[in-house]
Amino acid sequence: MMPIETRTATPGRASGKPRVVILGGGSGGLELAAQLGGSKDLEIVLVDREPSHLWKPRLHEFAAGTISSSLAELSFYLLGQLRGFRFEQGTVAGLDREARHVRLEPIRDRAGTVVAHEREIAYDWCIVALGGVVPDFDTQGVAEHAIRLDAKEDADRFRERFVAEMIEARTTGRPAEVVIVGSGATGTELAAYLRRSERAFFDQTDADRRTKLLGITILEAAPEIMPGADDGLRDKLVERLGTLGIEVETSVKVASVTPSEVCDERGKSWPADLVVWAAGLVGAPRLTALGLETDEKGRIPVDATLRSSVDERVYVMGDAAAFVPKGADKPLPPTAQAASQQASYLAAVLPLLVRGEPVEPFRYDDKGRIVSLAAAGTVGRIGVGAKDDLLIHGQFATAAYHALQRQHQWRVLGALRGTVAIAADMVSPAKGPALKLHGG
Ligand SMILES: Cc1cc2nc3c(=O)[nH]c(=O)nc-3n(C[C@H](O)[C@H](O)[C@H](O)COP(=O)(O)OP(=O)(O)OC[C@H]3O[C@@H](n4cnc5c(N)ncnc54)[C@H](O)[C@@H]3O)c2cc1C
Repeated sequence: MMPIETRTATPGRASGKPRVVILGGGSGGLELAAQLGGSKDLEIVLVDREPSHLWKPRLHEFAAGTISSSLAELSFYLLGQLRGFRFEQGTVAGLDREARHVRLEPIRDRAGTVVAHEREIAYDWCIVALGGVVPDFDTQGVAEHAIRLDAKEDADRFRERFVAEMIEARTTGRPAEVVIVGSGATGTELAAYLRRSERAFFDQTDADRRTKLLGITILEAAPEIMPGADDGLRDKLVERLGTLGIEVETSVKVASVTPSEVCDERGKSWPADLVVWAAGLVGAPRLTALGLETDEKGRIPVDATLRSSVDERVYVMGDAAAFVPKGADKPLPPTAQAASQQASYLAAVLPLLVRGEPVEPFRYDDKGRIVSLAAAGTVGRIGVGAKDDLLIHGQFATAAYHALQRQHQWRVLGALRGTVAIAADMVSPAKGPALKLHGG
């Protein structure tokens, strides 16, 4: 029999300090918790539904099996101990903004037994960093037959199916067909890393018999790939994807996905053993349950200081926030770069806000856009001055691509441990051949 669920409150403020509760320990939320942890003025509580952090910009690499998540996951409990914040595991159910409580769903084990009851965590200041998800735009068959790379479990599910398809292709000689819908960073990078993984399945003893095991097609609804990128970068991407034998078709509006094909509105179809749906991003589903205003993409509008439009004690950052920079007509696109800058900003201004002092607005510094295409190298555009920017590729681009992650490791782990982690990462087998081409 299922135990009766009771509502329990988590321990109160033993510290006597104002409590900041951060919802979501992703690219932005964890950096903020790590930077504020150990503060003499604030008590920091981080909430996440997962017990460990996986940096989302590498999700396509976990999906392709070119890196093992067991090497890259960081336990929130351990990080809390290292960086001086309390971690509460649980799925955010909602906010009671009057009482200033966050509600967490009960946690159940695999058998369905409740191991932690529904809880309420009191806050003085709440930071929403719950990220976003890929929408299916109600396209027929996407929920049933396509995989969206929103979280680690999606990457694991994709990898299991990819490995099964590659084994079958190896046995039958018929290449597996992967169709990726959406040509943004996720779609293009995943395609390139899948091509790299294919190599591990070749007959390693006979170089002459390395027949193709994998067909990869990217379908894009817009007339050009990577909407939002400039022509120079786009041309480089198209060229590099071509060298990898990745088919790209634009102006394709997908109408349905079945277990064996993807069909567009004009009736054209593409055979598909595996479909990845990587078209766009909206706010995480729970954002609409927080009793805050949300925009048409399910994100929470914020002012120049990242404060939510309807509650002065709730701030929002990263993919969950609709932040419109001064002079712009639309919100910032969802990137780890923006989430990280917002984390540093809030780490600096929260102590001031708590003391009732005025703060400067958040200013976004666009450092550019870089895409890693595994064996086909790295290409991107970076800002070098107030007006100019630079199209980059080669070693320089690769270094710039890794810089974002190095910075994340530093902010999360601190200078000493961050340096050790970076050094370990640089000699990791992930730099060489595919590492985790098995399930689980
Ligand atoms: C394959 C891929 C490649 C990318 N590459 C790049 C890149 O090269 N550069 C770049 O700048 N950006 C990149 N991005 C985008 C980047 O990953 C996101 O913009 C960034 O992670 C957003 O950070 P965040 O903190 O807002 O949310 P996230 O990092 O998504 O974190 C959200 C957190 O909230 C938790 N959570 C969600 N719902 C709940 C709930 N109800 N209760 C409790 N916890 C919850 C999740 O477990 C997660 O830990 C990439 C994304 C993908 C998928």
